Amino acid sequence: MAELIDGKSVAEDVVRRVKALVAELTEKGGRQPGLAVVIVGEDPASQVYVASKSRTAKECGFHSVQHTLPAETSEPDLLKIIGQLNADPAINGILVQLPLPGHIDAGKVIQTIAPEKDVDGFHFINVGKLGTGELETAFVPCTPAGSMLLIERVRGKDLSGLNAVVVGRSNIVGKPMANLLLAANCTVTIAHSRTRDLPALARTADILVAAVGRPEMVRGDWVKPGATVIDVGINRIAAPEKSEGKARLVGDVEFAEAAKAAGAITPVPGGVGPMTIAMLMANTLASAYLAAGLKRPSF
Ligand code: NAP
Repeated sequence: MAELIDGKSVAEDVVRRVKALVAELTEKGGRQPGLAVVIVGEDPASQVYVASKSRTAKECGFHSVQHTLPAETSEPDLLKIIGQLNADPAINGILVQLPLPGHIDAGKVIQTIAPEKDVDGFHFINVGKLGTGELETAFVPCTPAGSMLLIERVRGKDLSGLNAVVVGRSNIVGKPMANLLLAANCTVTIAHSRTRDLPALARTADILVAAVGRPEMVRGDWVKPGATVIDVGINRIAAPEKSEGKARLVGDVEFAEAAKAAGAITPVPGGVGPMTIAMLMANTLASAYLAAGLKRPSF
């Protein structure tokens, strides 16, 4: 059976280290890192995410600000708030919770965030830095950054010679994941909905990352013996065995079968999921270090 990669415990390590580094920074007279989270509207899932981000920011010792705006907030009003946060020296990270209401252009909002405060890593400047290997100053999207940390825990930092297959090519997960693996010297293939014979391709992977959003699509016999399997998918499916109307979370990988072949595998929940918020904290800390003219801490 595969080693279980415990994302919850790695995420706790990251948060603990962020907290210790914040204490060290402020003891030396440095400014407390600040994270601003902006939410527009009342989407219940977004509210849960935002509350959790603000709570973890406080736990890390950050100056934590939350802007909760009504759904009918206009785009110019939102852009004005982003402008104020860009100019505020107490704020190092700005996160606008997606999705935004339909009348607001999310792309425009993201590109208005100052790149050095874009702790989600979605600004073109940060996308370009990651693509060109400028990792010292790039902000990398939190989910792939967290997935990479989990891979490093199993395989180390230098992945020279390993074949990686990333299933999914979204800007939030698949593409940045592929760039991180490339930067770590993997030979990377990105698969997507038009890829031919995905099972055969997946079987070439020493590192297989599934970021698709299709419950248990990656079957056990797609996994090369000994592979490291990172399941980014979070899918809610009906669980009549629990009782009528109940649901449970599954990943994009058929866990029980894949775990028989894999060398190491992330569970869902408890794998990649907890890493996202932890890496948001690590990115905000990095932003504060860079703003203070210091080298960013590595995780
Ligand atoms: P997305 O934007 O919908 O992208 C899905 C990707 O999967 C697309 O590139 C798509 O290909 C590809 N795909 C769809 N069907 C496929 C198939 N049958 N065979 C091969 N590829 C296929 O999704 P995302 O935002 O990247 O998220 C992916 C999953 O990760 C979701 O389950 C999401 O909930 C989860 N997620 C988790 C976290 C977290 O853990 N914190 C964060 C973000 C996302 P095309 O490009 O050809 O359409």
